[in-house]
Amino acid sequence: MEYLDLHAHMVSRTTDDYRAMALTGCVAVTEPAFWAGYDRPGVEAFVDYFNRLVDFEPQRAAQYGIAHFTWMCLNPKEAEDRELTRRVLDVIPSYLERPNVLGIGEIGLNRVTRNELAGFKDHVDLAMEHDQLIHVHTPHLEDKWKGTKVIVDTLAADQRITPRRVMVDHAEEHTVEMILADGFWAGLTLYPVTKVGPSRAIDIIEIHGPERICVASACDWGESRPTAIPEFVLEMRRRGHPDSLIRKVVYDNPIELLSQSPKFGLPDREASVAWG
Ligand SMILES: [Zn+2]
Repeated sequence: MEYLDLHAHMVSRTTDDYRAMALTGCVAVTEPAFWAGYDRPGVEAFVDYFNRLVDFEPQRAAQYGIAHFTWMCLNPKEAEDRELTRRVLDVIPSYLERPNVLGIGEIGLNRVTRNELAGFKDHVDLAMEHDQLIHVHTPHLEDKWKGTKVIVDTLAADQRITPRRVMVDHAEEHTVEMILADGFWAGLTLYPVTKVGPSRAIDIIEIHGPERICVASACDWGESRPTAIPEFVLEMRRRGHPDSLIRKVVYDNPIELLSQSPKFGLPDREASVAWG
């Protein structure tokens, strides 16, 4: 089944991963900017990273017939440094012009500190000034509920924001309802070991229905599976769900969300155009 992976950190993955994704039906990935696993030494390191996201990575994806889109930001972990945040925010607008950039993300909170929240609001301002979609990371583990609540309340109180233009990712059983209730999209990221896996994600969809819910692999430099979505599809079929429902979650829903950006589109597979 064809699918889109809304959350894949392909800079951390090999070409074998692109191949595996293409062979299992992946037609597009969107890659939010994120933490590298270590703090970057300065704004130049962000420029280097952003250049890769808009230049090299789409070329790599194209060799496997996969469309590559990205989101720009300084991630919540590094937002503790307000001066660095200001410098990175200064360079982001020029990237928002690039053809594969769909919006601002993955912004959010990690430890839910005052500086993180200030950086989060700075990014929301930037998104509003430039009419961008927003992709939001919610904290893991013990900060999940509290952090998601602060994020959802902050976004819902902002009159400039259209909730359907915002994806709140890493939702879990106890946070998905508050995300959907305010009209935002909820993302379920499928991890192989910790956090939400395919079966928990399916439980959530069985309870809440498929409206405004997407799944993603969130594959990165940690233990994760770039083929998590086809594994989700397999598990959905095992439980007897029809392909129409599965397709809505893995294909139609992400297209509905992303099509709100004029830059989004899928490769025309009927046309004979050479890849790469
Ligand atoms: Zn991520």
